[in-house]
Amino acid sequence: MTVVSEQQRVAVVTGGGRGIGAAISRRLAADGFAVAVNYSSSAADAEDVVDKIVAGGGRAVAIRADVSDAVQAERLIAATTAELGAPTVLVNNAGMNIAGAARKQSPRDWDRVIGVNLSGAFYCTHAALPAMYESGWGRVVFVSSPSGGRRPSPGMSAYSAAKAGLVGMTRSMALEVARRGITVNTVMPGFVETDIIASGGENAVENLAALWPRIPAESIASTVSFLVSEEGGHVSGEEVGVWLGGPVGI
Ligand code: NAP
Repeated sequence: MTVVSEQQRVAVVTGGGRGIGAAISRRLAADGFAVAVNYSSSAADAEDVVDKIVAGGGRAVAIRADVSDAVQAERLIAATTAELGAPTVLVNNAGMNIAGAARKQSPRDWDRVIGVNLSGAFYCTHAALPAMYESGWGRVVFVSSPSGGRRPSPGMSAYSAAKAGLVGMTRSMALEVARRGITVNTVMPGFVETDIIASGGENAVENLAALWPRIPAESIASTVSFLVSEEGGHVSGEEVGVWLGGPVGI
């Protein structure tokens, strides 16, 4: 397998300025990658992650793009290439949820959740793959969820469908690129206390904490670090759960 050169150690982390994405950005920078820290609205958070990476001697830039827009996803990869070099690592971490029972959820909310979590991951990957083919080396990681089939919850149809879609996409895409030096995997975080959990409404954090062991965002980041490493080069088409086995007591 081709070993990626120093110039090619460039990573894009979508939603890399907050929560799990921020931990992944920091970890990949510590691993020696130049990191494009993508955000859609949280510019200050993304700039803060970038400032800390740069202060520590790393290379990073913050790049705004709403990944649910195919044109902006394309521009994210183009801007990364212009500022840091063509990315050979893409972590599709950006995600959000609009919870709601299926009989009440509007088609607009469905489209938004699918657009960010599933279509956005495809758009970014579609834009990043040509340079990975050219390099003969690449790593794509999707950030899914136990809600995508392994541990369903009510009121999460759109989010669950999007996250399950990432797993299907991982398996298909991994086969396409298996002889190109490119791997495609999914990580499935358990309960990491971030804003997406708090956005689930009053008591959302307490309710989850009663069931699930808390996982530090850094544990998701270290799993991603392995998957994008040389050593992870023969792991592809897999879903890796980082969740200590699931809800306590089940
Ligand atoms: P978070 O703190 O709410 O972070 C979500 C990130 O996604 C933010 O950086 C946000 O950036 C970005 N984002 C949202 N919409 C975007 C868009 N349209 N374009 C670009 N970026 C966008 O939540 P998190 O827990 O770190 O979530 C990270 C990933 O882990 C998500 O895919 C989530 O579904 C998944 N996950 C989380 C848990 C958990 O327990 N926390 C469990 C399973 C899976 P902006 O603020 O700039 O929009």
